[in-house]
Amino acid sequence: MNSFDFLIVGGGVIGLSIARELHKRGGRNIGVLERGHVGKEASWAAAGMLSPDIEADLGSEFHRFCRRSLEMYPALAEELKGETGIEIELDRSGTFCLSFDDDDSLREIYARQIEDGVRVDLVSSSDISKAEPSISQSVCEGLFYQSNWQVENRKLLQALRTYCELNGIRIFESMPIESLMIESGKVSGVETADSRIGAENVVIATGAWTSLIKIAGSTFPVDIKPVRGQMIAFKPEMRLIRSVVHSSQGYLVPKRDGRILVGATSEDVGFDKVVTTEAVERLYSTAVKMVPALDGAEIVDSWSGLRPCTEDKLPVIGEFPGYKNLTVATGHYRNGILLAPLTAVVIADNLIDNVSFRYAFAPSRFLGETTAASV
Ligand SMILES: Cc1cc2nc3c(=O)[nH]c(=O)nc-3n(C[C@H](O)[C@H](O)[C@H](O)COP(=O)(O)OP(=O)(O)OC[C@H]3O[C@@H](n4cnc5c(N)ncnc54)[C@H](O)[C@@H]3O)c2cc1C
Repeated sequence: MNSFDFLIVGGGVIGLSIARELHKRGGRNIGVLERGHVGKEASWAAAGMLSPDIEADLGSEFHRFCRRSLEMYPALAEELKGETGIEIELDRSGTFCLSFDDDDSLREIYARQIEDGVRVDLVSSSDISKAEPSISQSVCEGLFYQSNWQVENRKLLQALRTYCELNGIRIFESMPIESLMIESGKVSGVETADSRIGAENVVIATGAWTSLIKIAGSTFPVDIKPVRGQMIAFKPEMRLIRSVVHSSQGYLVPKRDGRILVGATSEDVGFDKVVTTEAVERLYSTAVKMVPALDGAEIVDSWSGLRPCTEDKLPVIGEFPGYKNLTVATGHYRNGILLAPLTAVVIADNLIDNVSFRYAFAPSRFLGETTAASV
């Protein structure tokens, strides 16, 4: 196999977004190496919510990063449509966060978020019933985020893959990378069990499996844990909800094709992707509690995926200390779909335009004083 100028290991939403962005900025001779099939792991399993104000600690650098990435979505959707003809179904109907009991934690969140300048409305049960008549009458009140959206992540993956195929970015599937090759303090390429591929720059975008890659004979020193998320889907005959709806028990995400996704569990069970009866039952009853009309509806699909989670639950994006030509983009945990556009831009800024990483998500935070050359 050839040697590449840019070699991306991992073909999920992060790896594919980086490949596209590098190409758009003039990068050439780009390869994506994927252990299994491109876009079939966490990025495929996701619900596609783009919810910076629900998942992140407000006012934090992470929250700002999430918001900036969200703001890139309208342009990204347009561009991908033009580049590939694929519509990624960006839906800006907004997101409800509902309370089904009398606790006033939503009011506390509301007060804090208003202070932090978040665009959020406190909505009464009658406002909710008007907007979403199928939501249970037992709803007490809620928050509504007009600017928290969703996208069809599987179409996004399809569009990113198509972009690569149309633009000479080479994708290799069934290509599990075992280790990085090091020569004179520089990464010179990657190794599978029986081949070596040379590279000028290597980007590790291997999601939940990142810690399994070997570097200089040791395990990768950034600890990424898989966190399993199980989901189910209904496809009711009528469109029951328009917006994404969260509660403390879980969430519902209506898709354009009529499916309602219900998620998700959060489990520390290693790399096991089995779907359990217990989780399916729990998700089912969560859905029925929120939308009683789903009682008796057929579950048309169920699946699980592994979220890549770091110790501090923040992503790891940036240059790997000690190796100037090794970059990491992983650990996106619950927000990888949301964060893919900005992650790709930040990596391309660095690799193409030499802009240093100025965010606090650098891999060095896990390495302490140790330089990579000594691990
Ligand atoms: C149930 C669930 C719901 C979610 N919902 C949302 C949501 O609504 N919104 C949101 O923003 N995020 C959501 N997420 C999180 C999101 O899916 C992830 O953060 C994101 O997909 C991570 O992208 P990735 O490209 O890093 O990982 P992945 O999509 O897992 O891709 C990594 C790729 O690397 C490949 N790989 C690994 N090791 C190697 C190797 N050694 N050699 C070659 N290839 C390798 C893998 O096979 C895989 O294809 C959800 C996740 C789950 C599981």
